[in-house]
Amino acid sequence: MAVPQRRTSKTRRDKRRTHFKLEVPGMVKCEQCGELKLAHHVCKVCGTYKAREIIKQ
Ligand SMILES: [Zn+2]
Repeated sequence: MAVPQRRTSKTRRDKRRTHFKLEVPGMVKCEQCGELKLAHHVCKVCGTYKAREIIKQ
């Protein structure tokens, strides 16, 4: 079994983790109501997509 030859230093470990982001990606503002919504998804707040396509009132 492959085993690391040396322990990963704190610096190297932390540098790797700089790419770990806290925010959930793909959040954009709704064109209709300005709320944050998932990109390429219908807005849950106002039920629109691409500034129209109304789901329900
Ligand atoms: Zn909206």
